[in-house]
Amino acid sequence: MDLNSAVRFSLHRLNLEFTSPGSIFSIWSLATSLSIGCGALAWLHWRRRGRTNFRALGRAIFGQNLWLRESTLADVQLFIISVVFMPAVVTGLVVSAHTVASSVHGLLNNLFGAISPLDCCSLWMKLFSTVVLFLAYEIGYWVDHYLKHRVPFLWEFHKLHHTADVLTPLTNFRNHPIDNIVFGYMLAFFIGGASGVLEWLFNQQTQSFAVDGKNILFIIFLWTIGHLQHSQFWIPFRGFWGNLVLSPAHHQIHHSRDPAHYNRNLGSVLAIWDRAFGTLEIPPQKNPRLVYGADNAGAAPHSIYGILANPMIQAALTLRPALGYLTKSGAEAWSALSARISRPRNG
Ligand SMILES: [Zn+2]
Ligand SMILES: [Zn+2]
Repeated sequence: MDLNSAVRFSLHRLNLEFTSPGSIFSIWSLATSLSIGCGALAWLHWRRRGRTNFRALGRAIFGQNLWLRESTLADVQLFIISVVFMPAVVTGLVVSAHTVASSVHGLLNNLFGAISPLDCCSLWMKLFSTVVLFLAYEIGYWVDHYLKHRVPFLWEFHKLHHTADVLTPLTNFRNHPIDNIVFGYMLAFFIGGASGVLEWLFNQQTQSFAVDGKNILFIIFLWTIGHLQHSQFWIPFRGFWGNLVLSPAHHQIHHSRDPAHYNRNLGSVLAIWDRAFGTLEIPPQKNPRLVYGADNAGAAPHSIYGILANPMIQAALTLRPALGYLTKSGAEAWSALSARISRPRNG
C-alpha cells in the first residue's frame, strides 16, 4: 500500500467511525450524550439549589484543561490506532463469534440432536435473542475486566486504561492493542457461545436487533449515557437504578485512585454482574471530586513508549517468577538426567 492509499484508507476508517450510527464514536451519539449530560447536570443542580449552575456545566466540558493535556493527546493517538489499524488486526488474529457459534451449534446437535424449527413468533425470537446476546456481552465484558484487574500479566496491559488522569469520551479508546485482542477473544467466546445455543434452540441463524452489527441495547446505552462514563459529568444512579445500570459516576469511581475504589464497578452497562459478584460501588449523590490515574504508571505514561512498549515490558516482567520456576525445574531435571547418563553402568 503506497502512502496515498494509506492516507485514503485511514481517512475512510475515521469517517466511518465519526458518521456510522453504530460506531463507538459517532458524532450523533456524542451529540445526544452531551445534551443528556448537560440536561441531567442542570436538573441535578436545580433540584439541589433551586438554580442551574452554568459554571459547573462549563467545568464539566472544558475544565482542568481537559482537551490539551498529555493524557488526552495519548487518548487521541490510541483512538487513531484503534479505529484505523485494530479492526484488521482483530479480524486477522481473533476467532470470530460466528465460528464459535457454528461449533457450539454443531456440538449441541451431536449431543442432543437437532430441534425442529419453530414456525411462528419470529419477532419474539428476535427480541429474546437480542436480550440474551446483550446479557452474553455484558457477562463477557465483566469476566474480561475482572481477569484484567486480577491477573498481573493482563493488568499491565489494562493499566494503560487507568493511567488517564482526566476522562473524556476518547478515554474509551485508551486500550493497549493486546488488551483489545484479549477482549476480542473473550467476546467471541461468550457471544459466539450464546449464539450457538440460540441457533440450536431455534434451529436457524440467530437474528437480533442491531445497528451496524452492534446490539441495539448497547447502542441505546451509547447514545444516552455511554460517553458520559468517561467524562467530568458527575451523574450518579442510586437506589433501584444504581443496582441495575452503571451510571457515569459508577465508572468514574472505577477510575479513582482511592484504594477503596480499586477493582469496583467492572461492568459495561448493567450493574447486575457487579452486584452478583460483590464488586458494585454505588456512587454518592454529591461529586466527591475523584482523582484519576494508576499507581506505578511509569516515568512517561502518556508517551508513545509509555502507551505501547512499556505495558509489554512490564507484562513480560510479571512472568519472571513463572519463568524462574520453569528454568529452575529445567536445570534440576537436566542435572538429574546427566547424573543418570554419566553414572557408570553396573556390571
Ligand atoms: Zn479497569
Ligand atoms: Zn474506563
